[in-house]
Amino acid sequence: MTFEVHPVPVGDIRSWDFTADVVIAGYGIAGAAAAVEASAAGADVLVLERAGAWGGAAAMAGGFIYLGGGTPIQTACGFADSVDNMTAFLNAAMGPGADKSRIADYCAGSLEHFDWLVECRVPFKPEFFAEPGWEPMGDQGLMYSGGENSFPFNTIAEPAPRGHIPQMQNKKQGESSAGFMLMKPLVETATRLGARAVYDVRVQSLIVESDGRVVGITARQYGKDVAVRAHRGVVLATGSFAYNDAMVTQYAPRIAGKPAASVEQHDGQGIRMAQALGADLAHMDATEVAIFVDPQQLVRGILVNGRGQRYVAEDTYPGRIGQLTLYHQDDTAYLVIDADAQDEALASLTPQLMLRPPTWVCESVAELEGEIGLPSGSLQSTIEYYNAGAARGEDPLLHKKPQWLRPIGSPVGAIDLRNSTGGFTLGGLQTTLNGEVLHVDGDPIPGLFAAGRSTAGLAAWGYASGVSLGDGSFYGRRAGRRAAQAR
Ligand SMILES: Cc1cc2nc3c(=O)[nH]c(=O)nc-3n(C[C@H](O)[C@H](O)[C@H](O)COP(=O)(O)OP(=O)(O)OC[C@H]3O[C@@H](n4cnc5c(N)ncnc54)[C@H](O)[C@@H]3O)c2cc1C
Repeated sequence: MTFEVHPVPVGDIRSWDFTADVVIAGYGIAGAAAAVEASAAGADVLVLERAGAWGGAAAMAGGFIYLGGGTPIQTACGFADSVDNMTAFLNAAMGPGADKSRIADYCAGSLEHFDWLVECRVPFKPEFFAEPGWEPMGDQGLMYSGGENSFPFNTIAEPAPRGHIPQMQNKKQGESSAGFMLMKPLVETATRLGARAVYDVRVQSLIVESDGRVVGITARQYGKDVAVRAHRGVVLATGSFAYNDAMVTQYAPRIAGKPAASVEQHDGQGIRMAQALGADLAHMDATEVAIFVDPQQLVRGILVNGRGQRYVAEDTYPGRIGQLTLYHQDDTAYLVIDADAQDEALASLTPQLMLRPPTWVCESVAELEGEIGLPSGSLQSTIEYYNAGAARGEDPLLHKKPQWLRPIGSPVGAIDLRNSTGGFTLGGLQTTLNGEVLHVDGDPIPGLFAAGRSTAGLAAWGYASGVSLGDGSFYGRRAGRRAAQAR
């Protein structure tokens, strides 16, 4: 894919097709948050959206927003939390390499951000969803979404669930989930405050003055070039580069060919446009990684690698399991689960799309080991060691919680999880905490702001569900506000 990304000198523009104080590219979560705040700050706001409607990946998302520090929902559900506790967790879980000043800033502002979402009429039901799962099947508003209550994080910070989910009934995963009930109120708020939107318009490059200040955007609409004037600032909110094969191969090759939890509009255009102006990048190798199996099965089995060895506590955040499998185990895993545990998972409260039948079923572990093709004796010694600990209620190797420990019996099966991961990119433009895009020289590029997955946010290597909608909305607001104040 090639892009028209070169900055266009303002002198080349003969007429403006649209003008506004603040021009926002992309009407997903970061764009909507920016539109609300820029409008509230008194700016005339225009959002340019490539698709035929607002929403982006955010409207399809599970809707987790990572919030904490003692939100009213956490308190109503009986969980104590503090800014320091949340900060300690995120510093550990988003790294290595996480931006500590951004995490501190985000955690300090989390309660205010929750209040802002509620003011924008995002509904949250004060009910905790306690089951293992990718997201609540019902309309519950709170869930563990980052392994906070699992090893090693339960030894680093006091466990508190922070995955806040907007209330939504009749969900259909991946098509119509709680992200819709995040987006709808935000877009309605922006519209009420006067923000305008143009759809089916695809931004392609930045318009600059001779001193480098960004003063507009060029775009394609119905086969025609259009020029859009931004009197105060441009906000890039066009999403990740998960669907740009060349960029993924260049920066995050492990997920090449396996985009997931993303939309094809995430083609990296916003990132390339700003790069063409000298913008700096960060954490381009970071990715969210899902593993395509149901957590109800994961917690009841043991995950082994190609050497028949366990490598992660199966009751942790499944996205962490995905990352560790893809990056540290060469995308090779087998979930060993006995017949009773499989039946229990099937009967659990959250049968979901990802519940999978065993690939192999055998009477003995030795037979299973042979069927899978694992080194002779490897799985047998893993299970012998695991079962001895489980009988004592302990997992000395990986510290799975006692509630999920039970010796593995017979018949015993295994689910083939080789090449069963996929995800989206987390890296992007380097920004200040006010959403200003930084030049490689370290200074903000005048007139240019960005937020969401076209920027590097909270996550450096690790991830927790809710971090994307969380930092996208949090720093989308900052970018919108700062753009409204510019020049
Ligand atoms: C099924 C699914 C489940 C998910 N669950 C969660 C979750 O529970 N919690 C969480 O935090 N994250 C979740 N995510 C990820 C999250 O939705 C995204 O990371 C997040 O929406 C990124 O925000 P954004 O504003 O950068 O991008 P988006 O919300 O996708 O918005 C970007 C917008 O820009 C538009 N655009 C792109 N290029 C152009 C262009 N050239 N010109 C004009 N417009 C353009 C796009 O069409 C889109 O509308 C999920 C994603 C999916 C698909």
